[in-house]
Amino acid sequence: MAGEKILIVEDEKKISDIVKSYLERDDFKVTVAQTGEAALRQIKNTYDLVILDLMLPDIDGEDICRAIREFSDVPIIMLTAKSSEDERVKGLCIGADDYVVKPFSPRELVARVNAHLRRTRKDEKKILSFNGGLLKIDTASIEVLKAGATIPLTTTEFRILLMLAEKPQMVFSRLQIVNAVQGYDFEGYDRVIDAHIKNIRQKIEDNPHKPVFLKTVYGAGYKFIGVPD
Ligand code: CA
Repeated sequence: MAGEKILIVEDEKKISDIVKSYLERDDFKVTVAQTGEAALRQIKNTYDLVILDLMLPDIDGEDICRAIREFSDVPIIMLTAKSSEDERVKGLCIGADDYVVKPFSPRELVARVNAHLRRTRKDEKKILSFNGGLLKIDTASIEVLKAGATIPLTTTEFRILLMLAEKPQMVFSRLQIVNAVQGYDFEGYDRVIDAHIKNIRQKIEDNPHKPVFLKTVYGAGYKFIGVPD
């Protein structure tokens, strides 16, 4: 789909130039912010996806991620030199959807951008309702409602919940989940999926330790146990 708007937050011009040219070749409209301050000004505009460098000269990329999440569920792909699993999980915990470790191939980054946007585009529009209307998943507005109140989920959290909720009682492995929502797997994905599930539970379950929607199946993965209306 042509003309989708991407914000690149990156202080290294060499990197942002390369990524920008690859994205423009795919017909994306690209804006570059070279500082955290510029990024915070830019994010007030509407973007379809944000590529966010973690190491910026003025403001920590993680703080920018949090600031975006205060008002938007736009897909965020973080760029980072931090490759440890803990850092990756931390990034996802503050609401990023994906992680690319530097140095990366621009082609791979663009593939991930497309994978994230394709999933947003292709979802069949419908409303799923569970447990007597207690939990509703609206795939048109990409919104989850719990007892009528909007639950703020990130795009990745939404996709995981939707994938499981579309097939109640079916057990999905962590590998199946990561492949379905990210389009690829990576080292340490199992802990990343666990972190996403934990976040979703904290948002949709009355008691995350006694879930009535997202159940852990030990040694196998997860399943959605809500009752369809
Ligand atoms: Ca940087």
